Amino acid sequence: MERVLLLNTSYEPLCVVTSRRALALILKGRVEAACGDLLEIQGVSHKLRIPTVIRLRRYINVPRRGARWSRQAVFQRDNYTCSYCGIRLGEKQRNKSLSRSDFTIDHVLPVSRGGKNSWTNTVCACAVCNQRKGNRTPHEANMRLSWEPKMPRVTYLVASGQIPASWKVYLEVQN
Ligand SMILES: [Zn+2]
Repeated sequence: MERVLLLNTSYEPLCVVTSRRALALILKGRVEAACGDLLEIQGVSHKLRIPTVIRLRRYINVPRRGARWSRQAVFQRDNYTCSYCGIRLGEKQRNKSLSRSDFTIDHVLPVSRGGKNSWTNTVCACAVCNQRKGNRTPHEANMRLSWEPKMPRVTYLVASGQIPASWKVYLEVQN
C-alpha cells in the first residue's frame, strides 16, 4: 500500500501513514495538503488523488522517549529561569544583568548525597540560590521549586519503512 508522510503543524515529521489512513484524516478535516505531489489511490468506485505529504491542522505534543539529559538541555528546558527565585536571563540581580554563564545547574538531591544527573533531579538556578541551597534538599533549605522538573516534551520522528526520495527533498526545503 502507498504511504503518506504526516507532519505536525510545525512541519516536523510525525510518522508515515498508509494512504487509507491519510484519506480518513483528510475526510475528517484533521489535515491539509503540505505539498503539490499527488498520489493516486483506488477508492470504492473510482480513483482518488491525495497529497503525498499532509500536515495536521492542530498541533500535537509528542514526548520523546529517553530525551538525552545534558546541562545545556536543562537550561533550555527551564528557559534560563531560576527555579527557586524565578529570575530570568537579562534581569538584574545585585546590580548586574544576568547572562547565560550566571546560571547554574542545581541538583535537587545534591550529588554528594546520591543525586543524579537526570531530568527530574536537575533544575536551572541562579548562582545566588544555588549557593544558598548548598548541600541541602529544597525542603532542608526552606526553598521551594517553582515547578516540578520533568523530561521535556518534544516531537520525534517515527518513520516506518522507507521515505521516498521526493519527501526527503521536500523536508530539506522545509527545514
Ligand atoms: Zn535564584
